[in-house]
Amino acid sequence: MSTPDPTLNPDLQSWVESANVEGTDFPLQNLPYGIFSSSQGSDRIGVAIGDMVLDVHQAIEELALQDLPPETACALSSSSLNQFMGLGSRSWRSARRSISSLLTSGADPHPHLLLPRESISMKMPAAVGDYTDFYASRHHATNVGRMFRPDGEPLLPNYLNLPVGYHGRASTLVVSGTNVKRPMGQLKPDDGPPVFGPCRLLDYEMEFGAFVGAGNPHGHRIEMASAMDQLFGLVILNDWSARDVQKWEYQPLGPFNAKNFASSISPWVVTMEALSPFRKSGPDREPGDPDMLDYLVPVTDDVLDVTCEVHIASSQMREKGQSPVLLSKGTLADLTWTFTQMLAHHTSTGCAMRPGDLLGSGTVSGTGKESRGCLLELTWRGTEPVELPDGTQRKFLLDGDELTMSAYCEAEGARRIGLGTCTGVIQPAS
Ligand code: MN
Repeated sequence: MSTPDPTLNPDLQSWVESANVEGTDFPLQNLPYGIFSSSQGSDRIGVAIGDMVLDVHQAIEELALQDLPPETACALSSSSLNQFMGLGSRSWRSARRSISSLLTSGADPHPHLLLPRESISMKMPAAVGDYTDFYASRHHATNVGRMFRPDGEPLLPNYLNLPVGYHGRASTLVVSGTNVKRPMGQLKPDDGPPVFGPCRLLDYEMEFGAFVGAGNPHGHRIEMASAMDQLFGLVILNDWSARDVQKWEYQPLGPFNAKNFASSISPWVVTMEALSPFRKSGPDREPGDPDMLDYLVPVTDDVLDVTCEVHIASSQMREKGQSPVLLSKGTLADLTWTFTQMLAHHTSTGCAMRPGDLLGSGTVSGTGKESRGCLLELTWRGTEPVELPDGTQRKFLLDGDELTMSAYCEAEGARRIGLGTCTGVIQPAS
């Protein structure tokens, strides 16, 4: 490893008081990027700091950010993060140093460059050209295999040899807070012909999304040695899923309408630099697993130890002021495939990736029941319902349910950082 990044020093404090409060998701060591709609009418890049947001465009206009190369200043004045993502890791690091210096205690305070995070509305952080969702948790894949194919081996023969994925739908990615309408679909009752109607088995999937940086030209590969540098940052991703639609349609070509009605992401992109203290070696292989082919062998610590939690609150619970209930708690470190392996495999054919493309991890599930990242697994397809404090049960999601996903990183010698939240409320089908 190179010399320690001074922006990660856990003792650094900010002149933004709320960034120094224990337990905040956004201390000075985090500095995630997002897009907010400003009162000037245009969308702007912001950086979350404590309870506030730095207006990056305004900071550049006032020459408050030092030493930014002109192309970085230009990209950071844009209304989406794509251009900045496309500049690559050297630019990301210099921007981070510059923003960190601006916000560090002892620097000239610039409170007029800040907006209260509560007062602004967040947009999609980037225009996503292509979105691919993987299936990287063997625990999730094993549980789903047991339920969908009870007579066969739960893991299909390729599972431990390559990261399985499908090409998803970028047009229906939405930012946290966007309502999610229950989809209509073709459903096949066990004892009759298919019918068309509202999905009855609506589910969520607790995942992470990784934004691609500069990408690769068509016909070229991204190899493991450079894959980490090609990843810009992480968001929380909720891959809403219509299980009844999925069960009927998924063979032979995989998920289609079961996954294309909405996928929600958290608005703040936590960069790979901010996540570097939480990297570990891996991923976990078990005795008897096949050896990985060379093009998938990690060359650096590329497992990210990020803890995620899912909470639910029904509309009745919210009316009564009851707190949301914890459904599951897991970690990205439990995945069998890492984002760098997903990227190397995805591009192994020469498939082009562009700045702002999004890779979904697949449902993050661990070994224990408490770490199952979707209701299909948690309630074992509805046979073990979850009890809610309003006296109702959940096998799958009901209209009015609010799902909240949150995530954070903790490690010895590092400042705790968070990814914020990703929420959505289920609306009736129409
Ligand atoms: Mn998924």
